[in-house]
Amino acid sequence: MNIIDNKEIFEEQLEKAGKFHGDICGGIVIGTKLAIYVLGKLGMELNQKNKDLIVFLEIDRCMSDAVQAVTGCSMGKRSLKQMNYGKFAASFYKISTGEAFRVTDVDANSKEKRDETTEEMIERFKKTPSDELFSLQPVEIILDENELPGSPRDKVFCASCNEKIMDGKQIIMGGKSFCKSCAEGSYYRIL
Ligand SMILES: [Zn+2]
Ligand SMILES: [Zn+2]
Repeated sequence: MNIIDNKEIFEEQLEKAGKFHGDICGGIVIGTKLAIYVLGKLGMELNQKNKDLIVFLEIDRCMSDAVQAVTGCSMGKRSLKQMNYGKFAASFYKISTGEAFRVTDVDANSKEKRDETTEEMIERFKKTPSDELFSLQPVEIILDENELPGSPRDKVFCASCNEKIMDGKQIIMGGKSFCKSCAEGSYYRIL
């Protein structure tokens, strides 16, 4: 069955994403439609454990919650990666085939602002074909083995703070392994 632009499927997934996020805002509508669109393009199904999928998010706003809810990908399963580019885009990577698409939100990348309410936007998104709302590019994902789901491939201890570093995230300096916090400075300061 073609899941793209199917009204019932959209409503069902929108409800799921709204529950996960707390409400159905504009970003949830966009993210839901976007996630169904790319899953459809990859020939993947909804409402099942997509163990064959990794999603790379480029933004940490409402849209991202819908992508998580619809795909079932999560950080804890290592199937959801936050790239933090601050861009309304995401890439969907099918592990078994290496096939991947990067998708962007056409509205968000338009310099002209639309004059419409959230309700009007939601209605427009329901009616407009996904091909017009999103821009899709086939991409090659450059993936480190340490980024894959499954058991950890690498564990070391930081030479400075002695805390354990998983999955190859250490930085080597002078032949020693350091955590990013010790090597590059941290988001926190110990009081
Ligand atoms: Zn929201
Ligand atoms: Zn450290």
